[in-house]
Amino acid sequence: MKIICIGRNYAEHAKEMKSAVPTEPVFFLKPDTALLKEEDFYIPEFSKELHHEIELVLKICKVGKHIEEKFAHKYYDEIGLGIDFTARDIQAECKSKGLPWEKAKAFDNAAPIGKFISVEEIKNINGINFELKINGVAKQKGNSKDLIFSFDKVISYVSQFITLKQGDLIYTGTPEGIGQVNKGDKLEGFLNGESFLKLNIK
Ligand code: MG
Repeated sequence: MKIICIGRNYAEHAKEMKSAVPTEPVFFLKPDTALLKEEDFYIPEFSKELHHEIELVLKICKVGKHIEEKFAHKYYDEIGLGIDFTARDIQAECKSKGLPWEKAKAFDNAAPIGKFISVEEIKNINGINFELKINGVAKQKGNSKDLIFSFDKVISYVSQFITLKQGDLIYTGTPEGIGQVNKGDKLEGFLNGESFLKLNIK
């Protein structure tokens, strides 16, 4: 399986990154070795500025290529919460040199994932509230209504370039409020008010 991440998909986050709001989806990949299903995360030794990005995650349920936007909803059947961990210091260095970001985004365990809920159980796909708390304090709050590119648009767009397969995950972008995590922090992610993800930073 592969992990596809959408960048700058919430306008307020693009602003806080001092990035332009994109006119078409921006995406990058993480390998399957980035996936973390356990609750303990160890800060990698190569970064002094590890940032959290809470994101809604789509689970792909069938193979597709060149998927039309109007059919895209048939290609994912579950939604969950994940964190797109980013070594912001390394990313800044890569960006300044015009180099790819993989060192900052694709390292081992850089994609913690929580539990999933079936799409059928969610009443309004375009109004999913999600939130990240650190040590009980709300740090990021988002709603899928604020996505620049909808789930269907993202699936359609990515599938023009890359074949989607069953089990692939799409991290759909983070809202504003990103920031650093530190040893000892306890992260908890909520989807429509329900706890979906827990992580202890070590
Ligand atoms: Mg992200």
